[in-house]
Amino acid sequence: MITKINHIGIVVKNLGLSTEIFDKLFNQNSPEIEAVSEQQANIAFYPVGQSSIELIESTSKDSTISKFIEKRGEGIHHLCLEVENIREEMNRLKNLDFQFINEHPTDGGDGFLVAFIHPKSANGVLIELAQKK
Ligand code: ZN
Repeated sequence: MITKINHIGIVVKNLGLSTEIFDKLFNQNSPEIEAVSEQQANIAFYPVGQSSIELIESTSKDSTISKFIEKRGEGIHHLCLEVENIREEMNRLKNLDFQFINEHPTDGGDGFLVAFIHPKSANGVLIELAQKK
């Protein structure tokens, strides 16, 4: 079951510069920066009520995040839906012909297992499913 919008992911070129902007927006100090090696990225979360804004900076020129920024620039990258059971939800959606970028859930940081639905099968929107570990 999908339970809520967990976060909205925004890709940025430089996390240091972007946290300065978002610190001002949310009127708070910079959140902790977490390195997520499986995603070749550094991430920072700004809580907003029950959801949050995730800033993502690539740590490799060859990562999917770097390629995304090259093609489309900085900005909104994905929508993350929280689920109770990620494997169950992946099976349900695969049976409905949704395509996944990764066949199995991986570590998404912030204590979550994640999997991405390809934008081709979701109206051009990259959707991340996330289950609390
Ligand atoms: Zn995310």
